[in-house]
Amino acid sequence: MPVLVMKFGGTSVANLDRIKRAAKRVGVEVAKGYDVIVIVSAMSGKTNELVGWVDEISPLFDAREYDAVVSSGENITAGLMALTLQEMDVPARSWQGWQVPLKTNSAHSAARIEDIPPDNIRTKFAEGMRVAVVAGFQGISPEGRITTLGRGGSDTTAVAFAAAFDAERCDIYTDVDGVYTTDPRISAKARKLDKIAFEEMLELASLGAKVLQTRSVELAMRYNVKLRVLSSLNEQSDSAGTLVCDEEENMESRVVSGIAYSREESKMTLVSVADRPGIAAAIFGPLSEAGVNVDMIIQNISEEGRTDMTFSCPTNQVQRAEKALEGAKQSGAINYHDLITDSDVAKVSAVGIGMRSQSGVAAKMFKTLSDEGINIKVIATSEIKISVLIDRKYMELAVQALHDAFELEKLA
Ligand code: ADP
Ligand code: ASP
Ligand code: MG
Repeated sequence: MPVLVMKFGGTSVANLDRIKRAAKRVGVEVAKGYDVIVIVSAMSGKTNELVGWVDEISPLFDAREYDAVVSSGENITAGLMALTLQEMDVPARSWQGWQVPLKTNSAHSAARIEDIPPDNIRTKFAEGMRVAVVAGFQGISPEGRITTLGRGGSDTTAVAFAAAFDAERCDIYTDVDGVYTTDPRISAKARKLDKIAFEEMLELASLGAKVLQTRSVELAMRYNVKLRVLSSLNEQSDSAGTLVCDEEENMESRVVSGIAYSREESKMTLVSVADRPGIAAAIFGPLSEAGVNVDMIIQNISEEGRTDMTFSCPTNQVQRAEKALEGAKQSGAINYHDLITDSDVAKVSAVGIGMRSQSGVAAKMFKTLSDEGINIKVIATSEIKISVLIDRKYMELAVQALHDAFELEKLA
C-alpha cells in the first residue's frame, strides 16, 4: 500500500482534544488506503519546559543528558496518539526513535540522521498495522545513547521517514495554514504562498522562519520529497497549504518572497587581536569545538598590526563562546584586550530567488531601514538573501517596514 507521512507539531497535539482531532485526520487517510507514518512532536511548551529544567541545573550541560531529558516529551504524545487511534479501531503502534531504529551520529542536541532501516515498521505494516506513530526529534547514536535533532527537529524526522519509505507525500501539520511571506504573528499583512521553491524555503528556515526546520528542507530537496505545510487546527479547512517544490519559471518574478527574522542573536567583538595569518582559525577553531554556531563575521581594518573581530551567534551560546575564547586566551593561542558582548540584537533578512537577476534589493532594504531610523550593525549577503543585524527592539518594525517596501501583501 502507498505510504503517507503526516507530522503533527506541538500545538497540533497540545491536549487530548487536539490529539483526537489529529487522529481523525489520520483515520481519513487510512480509509483512503494509505499506510500512514505519523510523526509527533511533544505537546506545545513541553520541550521548552524540559530545556528550562536542564539549563537551571547545568547551564553548560552535558549534551548527552540534555538529550535524555528533552527527548522525553515526544514519547508521551507518541503513546497517546497510538492509543487514540486504537480507540478508533485503527491498528496503530508507537515507536520511539531507538526502536525504529532512527540512527544518528553522536552530535548530541544537533544530531544528523544517518540511516532509517525501514524493515521493522514494514514488517508490521505487512502484518496489518495501519499506522506507525513515531516520536519525532529523537534518535540513537552509534554508542547507543539517545540523541536529538535540534529544536524543531520533528520536521526533519518526518521528511527523513518520507524519504526512507518512499512516501507519496510528507504533510507537515502546524498552527498556521502554510508558509507565509513573513511570520503572520509579526505582520497582519503576511500572505500565504501556494508554492515556494526549496531554495527559498531553505534560506527562510535557516534565517529563522521556524515553520520548517532547515535540515528538513535540505533533505526534502535532496530526496525529492513532496513536502506540504498545512494547518491541523482549522477543521473545515480544505486549504491545500503550501507546497515546497522545485523552482518554477514564474517564481523568479518575485524578487523578494519572504522576510525572516531571528530574535535571539548576540554580537561579540574581540577588541585588538593581532592581525596575522592564522588569527581567524585561532579564534573560530575553539568556538566551533565548543559547539558555537558562528553566523556573521566581520574583521575591521588593521591599525599597527592589530584589529577588531566581530561575530554573531545565538544568544544561548554566548556563555559557551566566552568560555572558549577565554580558554584560548589563557592557553596563549590568541590575545585580545577586551571581549564586548551585545545581547540585544536581532537578525532580519529578505529572501528571494528573483534577487539573482535583479539588482537594487540591498539598496532598497537599507533605505527602508534608514527611513525608519534603524541602524544596521552588520550586513551579510548571498545570492538570494540579504541579512542585517539590528537592535532587537526594532525587529518587528523592521519586518513590517520591509514587508511593505517589497509589497509582499500583493503576493499569493
Ligand atoms: P510546530 O509546533 O507545528 O512545529 P512551529 O512553532 O515550529 O510549529 O512553527 C510554526 C510557526 O512558525 C508559526 O506559528 C509561525 O509563528 C512561525 N513562522 C515564522 N515564519 C513563518 C512563515 N514565513 N510562515 C509561516 N509561519 C512562520
Ligand atoms: N519538540 C521539539 C521542539 O520543540 C521538536 C519539534 O517540535 O519539532 O523543538
Ligand atoms: Mg516546529
